[in-house]
Amino acid sequence: MAVSLVPVPALSDNYVWLLHDDASGETVAVDPGEAAPVLKAADERGWTITQVWNTHWHPDHVGGNADVKAATGATITGPHEEGRIPTLDRTIGDGDTVTIGEHEGVAIAVGAHTSGHIAIHVPSLDVVFTGDTLFAMGCGRLFEGTAADMFAAMRKLEALPAETRVACGHEYTVSNGRYAVTAEPGNDATRQALADAEALRSEGKPTLPSTIAAERATNPFMRAATVEELAERRAAKDGFKG
Ligand SMILES: [Zn+2]
Repeated sequence: MAVSLVPVPALSDNYVWLLHDDASGETVAVDPGEAAPVLKAADERGWTITQVWNTHWHPDHVGGNADVKAATGATITGPHEEGRIPTLDRTIGDGDTVTIGEHEGVAIAVGAHTSGHIAIHVPSLDVVFTGDTLFAMGCGRLFEGTAADMFAAMRKLEALPAETRVACGHEYTVSNGRYAVTAEPGNDATRQALADAEALRSEGKPTLPSTIAAERATNPFMRAATVEELAERRAAKDGFKG
């Protein structure tokens, strides 16, 4: 019995992740910013979405919640975010769990991009859903938190097992990589990761999921040694035209 992890492109550069468990027949859609592409992707595979998991309140991550629920009856679980996800059936916070079949996911509080942002780590499936907190070679913008908050979030995600797949919310890898090679010009792993990402994108393929091991080696925000260095890099990336 297999478990499948599928990135479904949505909106301009989002991914909605489908996680399907053959044993239980359950299918989770993570961060459906819009409903149509993910309903179609599930239908093509003969899957019915039974749950939605949200990482944070931004509309490009929750905008499809109501339509997915209307089409499938899926239950919706996500962080409180000061009531800004009105479609939630269940609210979870740091350390709370979700399940797909026999697999348990754990919420990790990583507030910084938004105040209530969570990641969801499913250890038995070697996957973490990181929303807009950790991207391949990047991190989210600091809309509601500080560089210290993001630094703390990076420490939590860095500590996950190396083989953990990183399923994040956007296809930003090439843009992030072009900045990353300027932040750490001597880092050969980053240079190679950018070349790999450019090759995949030229074929129209997703660059994700990444892995925690790859992010430890290439991500200038995870690799920032201090809060100040992370803050400097985040400010530089905000103004980066790559
Ligand atoms: Zn966001």
